[in-house]
Amino acid sequence: MTLFTLGWEEWLSLPDLGLPAIRAKVDTGAKTSALHAFAIEPFGSAKKPMVRFAIHPDPADPDLEIICSAPLKDRREVTSSNGETELRFVIETTLEMGDHRWPIEVTLTDRGNMAYRMLLGRTALADDMMVAPSHSFCQPALSYEAYRDIPRSERHRRALRLAVLTREPENYSTRRLIAAAEARGHTMEVIDTSRCYMNIRAVGGEVHYDGRRLPHYDAVIPRIGASITSYGTAVVRQFESLGTYCLAGSDGITVSRDKLHAHQVLARHRIGMPTTAFARSPKDSGNVISLVGGAPLVLKLLESTQGKGVVLAETKKAAESVISAFQGLKADFLVQSFVKEAAGEDIRCFVVGGKVVAAMRRVGKPDDFRSNLHQGGTAEPVKITRTEREAAVKAARAMKLDVAGVDLLRGEDGPKVLEVNSSPGLEGIERTSGKDIAGLVIDYIEAKVAPKPPRSRTKRSGA
Ligand code: ADP
Repeated sequence: MTLFTLGWEEWLSLPDLGLPAIRAKVDTGAKTSALHAFAIEPFGSAKKPMVRFAIHPDPADPDLEIICSAPLKDRREVTSSNGETELRFVIETTLEMGDHRWPIEVTLTDRGNMAYRMLLGRTALADDMMVAPSHSFCQPALSYEAYRDIPRSERHRRALRLAVLTREPENYSTRRLIAAAEARGHTMEVIDTSRCYMNIRAVGGEVHYDGRRLPHYDAVIPRIGASITSYGTAVVRQFESLGTYCLAGSDGITVSRDKLHAHQVLARHRIGMPTTAFARSPKDSGNVISLVGGAPLVLKLLESTQGKGVVLAETKKAAESVISAFQGLKADFLVQSFVKEAAGEDIRCFVVGGKVVAAMRRVGKPDDFRSNLHQGGTAEPVKITRTEREAAVKAARAMKLDVAGVDLLRGEDGPKVLEVNSSPGLEGIERTSGKDIAGLVIDYIEAKVAPKPPRSRTKRSGA
């Protein structure tokens, strides 16, 4: 039997954890192995317990931070060399050294002030291994540069801890997102937005829920209902300030929810939309009507969703009476030219990461100019033009939304964007397109939270 020799210090990699280079101290005086980890948090179900943690693999570079997750094997009392006993999480992972690969058990502990990020104890060594305590680096050398050079396509995939912020755990979209996440080995927790509470401070703000602090999530999917936009975006903002990636950012949700603000942003980005005007004082109503080119015109309550506050006024007289009714209710509204040629149809483009991944055409009930599915409309797949595609992508980008449902009308002179939805429903679009949109959303999150190479430090080669 040829012996595999290890020195008292060695380079190794832990591929399952996405750690290509770790300098370890080999110590047969210690029984268990230990890996430096901080922000250690268990997650997952009782059937499939997981642990998430962070590590600075290079002791000299605190900017290089890698987040890992692994199946949790055990919790065990470990007494370290200084005699202190600590209850540690235990994981099993693959160790690679030279041309050897073998499974080891590792405990997680904060070794932040230790020179070696890993301690390899005797239970991690197989029978054909020998430690030469007077030698170091008997196996091939590695370098921390390995963390900077990983191509995007080869970046480590790990189990993510995700959360969906919603008040509707049972609805189609929520169920599909959970299923798509779990099919990819991730964990998705459902959090009721309205039950989150927060403490706000400059450093270390937190989000609390059911009497406990919420843990670190790799990503949060906000699906904030229109009724709690303000509180919901405050919760999202809190997650953002904790450094969590939010699929819809608080700014994007806020702007897209406010029809007037949304139109102003779209206009600023030169995105086609129906001519739109807005006023508050009663004496302006005539001017406002002429600003959009007279009747027929569409009046919309700013708070409207699902087509509920959208009215078509065929004549100037009808428009004036609706305006005076809205004003009597002190409701804010906008006035818009009627895109007649759209003929009760609109197009929903589902945008994920700068691409339209599916589109559907919604047709209103006969005699209804509104095509909302909630108003009894029907949907079918549609092929969109390049201009429509570009308008949808541009609108999502203008709203700073990575995932969005962009609604547009087919006007005579090109697409006219009506609305950008920050938590677009999945049911209609998946049914009509036959595509796994939830899966595409989770794939996008995976790519987004994959470890990025840290800010490049001056390479020694001077390149
Ligand atoms: P909501 O946010 O309440 O759904 P929308 O602005 O999307 O309000 O309008 C609802 C529906 O009314 C649209 O899907 C579209 O079919 C129709 N619609 C809205 N604005 C216009 C317009 N300016 N011209 C023609 N049809 C319109």
